[in-house]
Amino acid sequence: MKPYIPTPFDFDPDERGHFGKFGGRFVPETLMPALLELDAVYRTYRFDPQFWSEINALFDTYVGRPSPLYLAENLSKELGGSVFLKREDLNHTGAHKINNTIAQGLLAKRMGKTKIIAETGAGQHGVATATIAALMGLECEIFMGAKDVARQELNVFRMKLLGAKVHPVTSGSQTLKDAMNEAIRHWVTHARDTYYVIGTAAGPHPYPLMVRDFQAIISYEAKAQLLERHGKLPDYVLACIGGGSNALGMFAHFINEESVQCIGIEAGGRGLATGQHGASLALGRPGILHGQMSYLLQSDEGQIHEAHSISAGLDYPGIGPEHSFLMEQGKVVYDSVTDAEAMDAFVWLSRREGIVPAFESAHAIGYLKKMGDSIRDKTVIVSLSGRGDKDMIQAMQLLNL
Ligand SMILES: *Cc1c(COP(=O)(O)O)cnc(C)c1O
Repeated sequence: MKPYIPTPFDFDPDERGHFGKFGGRFVPETLMPALLELDAVYRTYRFDPQFWSEINALFDTYVGRPSPLYLAENLSKELGGSVFLKREDLNHTGAHKINNTIAQGLLAKRMGKTKIIAETGAGQHGVATATIAALMGLECEIFMGAKDVARQELNVFRMKLLGAKVHPVTSGSQTLKDAMNEAIRHWVTHARDTYYVIGTAAGPHPYPLMVRDFQAIISYEAKAQLLERHGKLPDYVLACIGGGSNALGMFAHFINEESVQCIGIEAGGRGLATGQHGASLALGRPGILHGQMSYLLQSDEGQIHEAHSISAGLDYPGIGPEHSFLMEQGKVVYDSVTDAEAMDAFVWLSRREGIVPAFESAHAIGYLKKMGDSIRDKTVIVSLSGRGDKDMIQAMQLLNL
């Protein structure tokens, strides 16, 4: 496989980061210089072969890429089609997040920054950031909602072990949304020596563009792997959505293929009718959060609603701006899967294929299972964004085995 270097996509935002009316850069004046600096640096390196050869070298020997495209024969037999799993769960640190943190870490080094900060919800992005900080010799501070710090002991310890400092955030709902507010606030006063590593394809421009470019390695590989081995394109491509980075990565190289339908799956939580969910596209309205315009779970008065999902990684009240644009353009289909359906799929995949998915990824698997007969004789690729090790304690409490 030829090493990956991004090329301009049809769905690139304009100069100021607008995907149609979504995206942009809604930040305090004091943060603009830092974002403009980052924008200029990213423009310089986006297609730079030297920058990408450094990324690709680490992808190869540190992350373990290319990740396998696995033909799940037992699922295929049961559903009557061909089901392929893109195995991001096999990456170092157990999910797709490391693809993005490696690239942003190398960018931070090029910019001469000595410190990096990040927000984290369940701790997966925090761990991926602390990991590359250790690797690259950068000082690392992680902002995490106090509630999540209490719930995710193991990841908090892992970050500390890797040498990061973890700040529990006690404002607001004490979860991911507040951790991101706090990280932005910290960045405003420390931007001179500090780089902010955002963990999903959201936030002010250029983050949504950068993170999508970095995660697009997923579909770059998957497309080449399927064409090489089977000489065909898939009919469907599925991925779960928190902020939307593994989904954009999984869709990027398929979205312009007429014969391929991309489907993004949000967290349906306890059911859309209950109000306890994370389905920003299904039930949100456009609004501004964390420096961008996108669909958002909010009240009539613009008060942000807390998102609810069994999987902390999908527990975000907003969504990356590119997804809002792709939905309005009708380029991608969006749907949701409930907690119960995801748990059912979690057990189903474990027992059929011997692969324990992350709760987040189990949403994409849950949708696959629900597709049932409609995938007879069809080819489907599912982004298996992460592995389930981190979810074992919660699974033990939820499943009576
Ligand atoms: C963080 C996470 C997600 C959700 O983030 P996206 O940016 O939407 O991809 C999904 N799966 C796993 C395993 C994660 O850790």
